[in-house]
Amino acid sequence: MMQKFLNLLPPLTLAAVLLFWANVPKAWVDTWWVLMVAIFVVLGFVQLMEYFAERHAGWRLNKTEFFTDVFYVAFGSIVITWAIQTLAEPPVLAAKKALGIATPWIADLPFLVQVAMALFLFELGQYWMHRLMHNNSWFWATHAPHHHITQLNAMKGYVGNPIELFLISLGVLALFDWDKAALFASISVGSTVAVYAHANVRADPPIWYSFFFTTIRNHSLHHTALSYEETRCNYGNSLILMDRIFGTYKEGESTVVGQGERRRLSIPQQWIFPFQPLIERWKISRTPAN
Ligand SMILES: [Zn+2]
Ligand SMILES: [Zn+2]
Repeated sequence: MMQKFLNLLPPLTLAAVLLFWANVPKAWVDTWWVLMVAIFVVLGFVQLMEYFAERHAGWRLNKTEFFTDVFYVAFGSIVITWAIQTLAEPPVLAAKKALGIATPWIADLPFLVQVAMALFLFELGQYWMHRLMHNNSWFWATHAPHHHITQLNAMKGYVGNPIELFLISLGVLALFDWDKAALFASISVGSTVAVYAHANVRADPPIWYSFFFTTIRNHSLHHTALSYEETRCNYGNSLILMDRIFGTYKEGESTVVGQGERRRLSIPQQWIFPFQPLIERWKISRTPAN
């Protein structure tokens, strides 16, 4: 009985998120802060659920893990959001203007249709960026720190090298004229699914949910410690549907996660990781020849 309820937790949370945004006062969608708060409320709730319905004792949070995760949530919410808004969005808006793209009809579509469209469009970009990261050595060097994490928890989706965090947040949603509440709802839904997909919570949602949305079961397989080759599946950040469409879906789950012989990286190590080969070369060049 209890397990059945736990399995329904991700879809129930999604329903609550959608209800909230469908009824939110107009003034609330004028600011990004309401979106931030909505995301944090879900994040806090799922993190709390790790305490009440733990999936694996080996993934239990300790102080180091907790404070590292909190650091990345703050970093992602402030710095990465700022970088996207100042560096990535202006060129997209300029392209929208230059190409004369005007889609006022989108805002008139039903709320749920807009949410689904925005989520699908954003996830399509994320899927291919993520897949590129597993297929190109330079991109992999930016994404590898996310795969060096040795346990999964609610906030772990935020953990990674800043270059990767920026690249994976890129999107073209600004090209279209969404109803702002629907746009925020789609971001909220994507975040909620991704939080559950990294959380140490004993929730295995029914197939009508896990056919479309990424779950911890399938995402833990993407984080498997078995081999690098074995991680090349289940790329969908929140829509596992992308993997089903593009043929990278793999059934299963993994309890032991992490790459590079499961060596946990500190924050400075995560940040310099992509530059490691350059640093090594520089060190060698400074070593006096005997
Ligand atoms: Zn990956
Ligand atoms: Zn992940």
